[in-house]
Amino acid sequence: MPVRLRSGEKARFVHLDYAASAPCVRAAADAVEGMLPWYGSVHRGAGVRSGKSTLEYEVARQAVGDFVGARAGDAVVFTRNTTDAFNLLARVLPAGVTVVVFEGEHHANLLPWSAVVRLPVPWGPDAAVESLERALAGIAGQVVFAVTGASNVTGEVWPVRRLADVAHAYGARVVVDAAQLVPHRVVDMEALGADYLAFSGHKLYAPFGAGVLVGRSDWLDAAEPYLRGGGASVAVGDGVGEVTWATGPARHEGGTPNLLGAVSLAAVCTALVGADRAALERGERDLLARLWEGLAEVPAAVPVSLFGAEHERVGIVSVALPGHDVGEVAQRLALDHGVGVRAGQFCAHPLARRLAGSVASGADDCGAGPAALLRISFGLGTVAEDIDRVVAALAQETGGLD
Ligand code: PLP
Repeated sequence: MPVRLRSGEKARFVHLDYAASAPCVRAAADAVEGMLPWYGSVHRGAGVRSGKSTLEYEVARQAVGDFVGARAGDAVVFTRNTTDAFNLLARVLPAGVTVVVFEGEHHANLLPWSAVVRLPVPWGPDAAVESLERALAGIAGQVVFAVTGASNVTGEVWPVRRLADVAHAYGARVVVDAAQLVPHRVVDMEALGADYLAFSGHKLYAPFGAGVLVGRSDWLDAAEPYLRGGGASVAVGDGVGEVTWATGPARHEGGTPNLLGAVSLAAVCTALVGADRAALERGERDLLARLWEGLAEVPAAVPVSLFGAEHERVGIVSVALPGHDVGEVAQRLALDHGVGVRAGQFCAHPLARRLAGSVASGADDCGAGPAALLRISFGLGTVAEDIDRVVAALAQETGGLD
């Protein structure tokens, strides 16, 4: 897409903010278009439109579950997004459950929990495992451990399996925030050790408005409905509170379901299952290496990481720009270079503070210092020239190349 720069020149716009929302792919658009002649209300009505819509909605549920290896007995509940999925899960936890998280999580996995223990951000995978084990040893009662699959700030892939093994050894249940993992990696809940997993359609090349919570159904089935109303209820008597609530996913999907969101999300999942994911991953690794090498030539840009530069990561890199106003630099990249990145703290304020502080002070785990970072994130459709464009633009706006 061409954009007009401040100089008056035209340039191809380079979108490098996939971690916020990824561009919608053809499979999603086709799925929406294919549904339009049949568009009707799910689980309501006897007509052919309603029947077809209900069928496609349930087919979509199956496809989305299959995409992450949902097991027999797992519920697949459609939500608005990952945030909604975590709020749903927080609502259905039985009384007395303690949730354990690292404080480096996205706010979606920090704020919904009420009885929560926050562990300090770990500066290495071993430190994460040790910290979790120490914490679990000291907590009595049922625990839920909720962790990201890949960080939306550093792109680092978390050692989920190792952490899940520790959590399971203490009888805890494991929740994986897969919002940034599913767009970049093949995910299998069993292999990951996930009892629950959540992600958003709009980060997975589908439109906004559909996400999912997949996982063990017992707590979901036993809990009060997340959204009370039509769809979640099967019989309502005359007296206040005389309600028979639905069982299964419908219990928590009150109101008319987001059919187009579900079918387009499922279409992307199915397309990805059929794609050569290994080749896509290789392409992404090449671009990451190119970005990393490019940034090494820009003295003002310091990539941040918890687990070290060599640690496995998805197509997300954040840099601190000591001595520069990150927001202004991001503005200039957009207006003068046609490159869209993101500046700020990316809804992970504690982590951004620690990372930016570690660059400012040269020491790990420093909470002080400027918090803002500049994030470059990419995915399907990104090419080497896009990476070169952002590196050149950053160099120009921060004082040049080494
Ligand atoms: N978890 C992670 C790791 C994210 O990056 C995000 C969004 O940036 C979320 C959760 C929340 O996603 P949503 O805003 O779609 O609910």
